[in-house]
Amino acid sequence: MENIKNYINGNFHNPISNDWIDNYNPSNGNVYGQIPNSSKDDVENAYIAAKSAFPSWSQTTLEERSRILLKISEGIEAHLDELAQAESKDNGKPISLAKAIDIPRASSNFRFFGNAITQFASESHESAGQNAINYTLRQPIGVVGCISPWNLPLYLFTWKIAPALAAGNCVVAKPSEVTPMTAYLLGKICNDAGLPKGVLNIVHGLGTTTGQAIIEHPDIKAISFTGGTATGAHIAKVAAPMFKKLSLELGGKNPNIIFADCDYEDMLATSVRSSFANQGQICLCGSRIFVEQAIYEKFKVDFVEKVKQLKVGHPSESTTNIGALVSKPHLEKVKSYIDIAKKEGGTVLCGGNEVTVSGYENGYYLEPTVIEVTSDECRVNQEEIFGPIVTIMPFKTEDEVLQMANKVKYGLSATLWTNNLKRTMRLSSQIHAGIVWVNTWLMRDLRTPFGGVKASGVGREGGFEALRFFTEPKNVCIKY
Ligand code: NDP
Repeated sequence: MENIKNYINGNFHNPISNDWIDNYNPSNGNVYGQIPNSSKDDVENAYIAAKSAFPSWSQTTLEERSRILLKISEGIEAHLDELAQAESKDNGKPISLAKAIDIPRASSNFRFFGNAITQFASESHESAGQNAINYTLRQPIGVVGCISPWNLPLYLFTWKIAPALAAGNCVVAKPSEVTPMTAYLLGKICNDAGLPKGVLNIVHGLGTTTGQAIIEHPDIKAISFTGGTATGAHIAKVAAPMFKKLSLELGGKNPNIIFADCDYEDMLATSVRSSFANQGQICLCGSRIFVEQAIYEKFKVDFVEKVKQLKVGHPSESTTNIGALVSKPHLEKVKSYIDIAKKEGGTVLCGGNEVTVSGYENGYYLEPTVIEVTSDECRVNQEEIFGPIVTIMPFKTEDEVLQMANKVKYGLSATLWTNNLKRTMRLSSQIHAGIVWVNTWLMRDLRTPFGGVKASGVGREGGFEALRFFTEPKNVCIKY
């Protein structure tokens, strides 16, 4: 059994209550370890460690902070294989994906913010005619909470922690209880990199116990959260009366809008990826595909043919394209949408069934599924499924597709496929989304603002936006 411990004040601890949760391997359905279900007391200990570390960490020179973050980045790189294996085992994603994307990106997050903090600056405003100058002091907030989901475990965990630490805060962090292993391994890497004790504390457990204790803590002054919209709304309700700073990155139901004038082959290959990468469990996946009428029938045939070629298999096999879904309850939820689609009059063009992988019969595998829908208002087109299911439907005009694209409660990202510049400019400005990709998908530059509108969240991560979130601006006005 691979048991996990809390990382508090640089040491590894069992939960005070000795309460544990089973950790499942989604590729075979077996329990392979135990996770602390940390209580308020564990969170309090993490808070106390963070609070004691804060005066010294917040005064560390930028050069020294940067040096430590870069060492953590190198440590992650040095443990690439071990971390990728752990991520794949915990989450069910193909190990090739964890090796190529998840773990390298976790390392980049620390490298990026280790460098960014040396370039971060604040404004000054000269008050002409008043003999005064104002300058903005950007000060770390204190102890902050970072809570992350299971789909990109170390990738999203470090996306929050790295800027929080770079800005001089101390952190109490909780990964998803569904995928805690790489966050646990990060603790040792941080110690090896020389991160002072208490600067980062990682507590494991259920959202409703451990997560709740973090968001309720009166002295944890800011919460950076990525997860579902309902959880985000709950966090806002708890945290708002305490006037905590909040960054909420929530769900999505992103349109993939395809015009007949696009580069067809590039669009086709990328659309397969944007539909099914990570078993469709990426908040940015383009799960609603709208295709211009003129190429709809051709697209339908070509897309389905390509999707049928995707191999569902054990995450450790190098030929696997689609691994296991993250958990049994999640598999059941995703599957339920196939029934809903049928009841709503949708046509399953391919997929729709569970897959039995030989030797791993109890794993959580599902065929990549394409559903043709006749209305954009059906539930499968409106609700976040977060699995290997996409809908397709045709459209006739730009106005029509814009309306359909915007007629959901979410607004995280959108993808446009067109070579028409004026249309690109028109639609990019009118689509309700925090991120628009044109003729590409998931191309990331870590300096850019990242986040959503409407039910996809509030606030922006990425680049200096994240450093602004994790600092409090104070205006100093000097008369001379
Ligand atoms: P959840 O909202 O269920 O959980 C996210 C995190 O919040 C987990 O660590 C969870 O703990 C914790 N949590 C749950 N309840 C509480 C609570 N009361 N107080 C504090 N913390 C709590 O999301 P999932 O893990 O299921 O992740 C999938 C969701 O994340 C999808 O909706 C997806 O769209 C969204 N997402 C958004 C992204 C974005 O950038 N906008 C990126 C990636 C995912 P535990 O799991 O241990 O119960």
